[in-house]
Amino acid sequence: MTAAITRRALLKALAASSLGLPAVGQTRPTLQQNPFQLGVASGSPESDSVVLWTRLFSAEFQADPSFATIDFPVQWEIARDPAFADVVQRGVAVASSALGHSIHVEPAGLPAGQWFYYRFRLNEHLSRAGRTRTLPVAQSTPDLLRVAYCSCQNYEHGYFSAYQQMLKDKPDLVLFLGDYIYEYAGGRTKHPVRQISQGWVTSLDDYRQRYAIYRQDPDLQAMHAACPWIVTWDDHEVQNDYAGTRPGSQGPDVPDFVARRAAAYQAYYEHMPIRQSTLTRGVDGLLQGAELRLYQRLPFGRLASLTILDSRQYRSPQACNPKARPGGAWIDETSCDALSAPERTLLGKAQHDWLADQLAASQGFRWNIIGQQTVFSPWVSPQKGRLLKRNDGWDGYPIDRQRILSTLQKRAVPNLVMLGGDIHEHWIGQIKADFNHPTSETLGVEFCGTSIASRTNGEASLPARLAANPHFSFADASYRGYGLAEFTPERMTVRLQAVRDPSQRNSDRFVLASFQVASGSTRIERRDP
Ligand code: FE
Ligand code: CA
Repeated sequence: MTAAITRRALLKALAASSLGLPAVGQTRPTLQQNPFQLGVASGSPESDSVVLWTRLFSAEFQADPSFATIDFPVQWEIARDPAFADVVQRGVAVASSALGHSIHVEPAGLPAGQWFYYRFRLNEHLSRAGRTRTLPVAQSTPDLLRVAYCSCQNYEHGYFSAYQQMLKDKPDLVLFLGDYIYEYAGGRTKHPVRQISQGWVTSLDDYRQRYAIYRQDPDLQAMHAACPWIVTWDDHEVQNDYAGTRPGSQGPDVPDFVARRAAAYQAYYEHMPIRQSTLTRGVDGLLQGAELRLYQRLPFGRLASLTILDSRQYRSPQACNPKARPGGAWIDETSCDALSAPERTLLGKAQHDWLADQLAASQGFRWNIIGQQTVFSPWVSPQKGRLLKRNDGWDGYPIDRQRILSTLQKRAVPNLVMLGGDIHEHWIGQIKADFNHPTSETLGVEFCGTSIASRTNGEASLPARLAANPHFSFADASYRGYGLAEFTPERMTVRLQAVRDPSQRNSDRFVLASFQVASGSTRIERRDP
């Protein structure tokens, strides 16, 4: 249970893990099995450092309850070559039991804009080697950035064969935009491709187990080992449609949702290559009311700025839910005055102000990329003669969206590109200064992704929905996959990589569509795949 971990124990574990000091006086068992069965990962790169991640996990760790209280010192090294002949740095980090035996190493002073290899060792057991990179220095002018953006990987809905393709695409960075796990009880999926034998996820132990199931997927593991990831979350990392500290809509009620959220946030930290500083912000550390600060900006030299948002943690509850039950719904905005209450927010004031500051500095970058959870532009659905809106997305927070649109317009943000996830469909279009006036200025382009595995049932209604949302020029609900976005000083190109059949682990892949946007333009040109 979460309550077993006090704030003091956590801070101690964090301090110890950064110093490489295991708790004294512990006798550590000899490990028979390789404890690196969840693989390795890296992420949150800067120009002189990058987070190196692993978590000790094996059947042995599961079987022997005494392991749960023991800390393990783990050696790590980072080198210029895959044979580890030219080691740049090495050290020891503690896999602390308070943090689920996870490790987050942050080597400092690495050379900028270079690729490295890293690995971990515990006694005679060696992890696989991962490959990672640092960002270019701030004032440099790189000629290429290749980003894979993806989201929504429901394990029961399909294999993660999309990552087999992504591996071949050799991106500099993977941008994961939410729904890394799903908290549902195993077996709820109709016609599951593969089944999870675990119930609803509500406690720290539950969340840890769920991440361990996902992280044993070989394609996901291989992609984590291939390049750094930048991650943000959506709702399913905690509970479907939760909003800030208000519970969502599916699964068992828990007596204390804030404690559940804190457990989920801790497990997220334990399994993601994110910095220790994301965890220690907030008044109570990981306890009630805790914050996990995921919103951030990464500059890729002067070529691109990557701004990552968190639209889950700080939001107001959804408006006008039928019978006031929590969660999201399709609503008719003409009968929902609450929607436009000025105090309702999706980002929260602190993040909103922070975003405005970032946008004020946007002139220094050729491309301004904003990665966030869901479709940003209005996305109405014609149902029974009415146009309904989804109150769980940006359409449910129109005042917050309009504030951002005004800032984007005021700052004349150069080459704005919004990337998104959540909706399990591709939607590609233009961002207007005022969507109620189609002739208003076009501020940038939006590429909202499909899912790695999660299903949609929107295929039949897609043509009608596309027609009802004329600011979008392309949509697809048929294929799982991701988007590969390449940025050069002259243009952005996006290739939608599709999986033919997610029920096959080694499914065929193909290019569903390709697009190009020239620097200085907001015109989305379709190209031959
Ligand atoms: Fe999803
Ligand atoms: Ca949801």
